[in-house]
Amino acid sequence: MTTPLLSIVIAIDGPAASGKSTLAEKLAKKLGFFYFDTGVMYRAVTLAVMEHGINVDDEDLITKLANEIDIDVQPPSKQDGRMMDVLVEGKDVTWEIRTPGVDQNVSKISAYAGVRTAMTNQQRRIGMRGDVVMVGRDIGTVVFPDAEYKIYLDASPEERANRRYKEKIARGEIASYQEILSSIKRRDKIDSTRTIAPLKIAQDAIIIDTDGKTIEEVLEETLSHLHIKPKNVG
Ligand code: C5P
Repeated sequence: MTTPLLSIVIAIDGPAASGKSTLAEKLAKKLGFFYFDTGVMYRAVTLAVMEHGINVDDEDLITKLANEIDIDVQPPSKQDGRMMDVLVEGKDVTWEIRTPGVDQNVSKISAYAGVRTAMTNQQRRIGMRGDVVMVGRDIGTVVFPDAEYKIYLDASPEERANRRYKEKIARGEIASYQEILSSIKRRDKIDSTRTIAPLKIAQDAIIIDTDGKTIEEVLEETLSHLHIKPKNVG
C-alpha cells in the first residue's frame, strides 16, 4: 500500500540526457516548486565508492555504504551553472559527481537492489518536503507511483549526446562527442534492462519526444498538460 501524497509531485523520467533536468528546473521555477534530480544520489554513492577505493563489483560493501552515507540536496548556493547543491557528509560535491569516471560506473552501482532501496527511501523523504518536480528513471513507476503528473521525456541517442557535448564545451571542459554517445547508449542499456526498477514508461505517463524541439517548446508542451496554478514566485 502506498501513502497518499499531501503535496504535488510531478515525476519526470526518461533516458540519460533527454533534457529532464533542464525542463524540471524551469518548470519548478515557473510553478514555485522544489527541484529535485534523483540521479545525483546515485552519482554521489558512485563518487564515494570511487573515493574509498571500493571495487565496483563489491555489491555488499557498496550496499552498506549506500545505507550509511549522508546525501542531501539543497537549492543552489552559487551561480556557477548548478541547478542545486549536492552535499555528501556536508561537503559540496555538485561538480565532482559529473566526471566521466562517475558516468562510467553509476549505472552498474545503481542496479544493485540494496542501493536502490536505500536511495528510494531517501528520495521519498526528500520528495515529501513539499510540492516538487522530481527527475529520474523510476519516479513515476516506483518512487512515487501515485504522483499527480508523470512525464516521460525522450529523444534519440544522437540528439542527447549532442546536447551533453555542447553543455560540456560551454563549461570549458574537454569533451568527445563519440565518447559521450557510447556512454549514453551503454547507460540506456543497463538502465532499461536491469531487474529492479528499470527505466520504463509508466502506464499513465504523458510522453514527450524532444527531438528537434527547443527547451521553450518542450516547456510549453509540458505546461499544456498540467493544471496547476503557479505560486507567487519572483
Ligand atoms: O540522470 P543521471 O544521468 O544523472 O543519472 C545517473 C544514473 O543514475 C543513471 O544512468 C541511472 O543509472 C541512475 N538513476 C537511476 N534511477 C534514478 C535516477 C538515476 O537508476 N531515479
